[in-house]
Amino acid sequence: ESVPARLAGNTYYLDEEESHIEVNQELARATGAGALLERVCPAKVYSVEADGTVGVEYAACLECGTCLAVAPKGVLKWHYPRGSFGIMFREG
Ligand code: SF4
Repeated sequence: ESVPARLAGNTYYLDEEESHIEVNQELARATGAGALLERVCPAKVYSVEADGTVGVEYAACLECGTCLAVAPKGVLKWHYPRGSFGIMFREG
């Protein structure tokens, strides 16, 4: 089964009010972290906009933790979605 097909099988509950990923834009700009995040995130959550701001499509996040592992210290503030929000993985 292809990855997109697998991803399509997951169910998302969107938390419209609060992103669970925050980017320190100033630090991201200074460290060039945006391009790195754009490259490593399997869900294409991050995108560097024309003005250098790092966009975060947080609803697509798979909570894999890769961005946290690679981002320079202080660039990301990340917390698991509150309560029952976030992704539910299905088996198979
Ligand atoms: Fe992307 Fe994984 Fe980070 Fe979520 S945890 S934003 S899927 S790299």
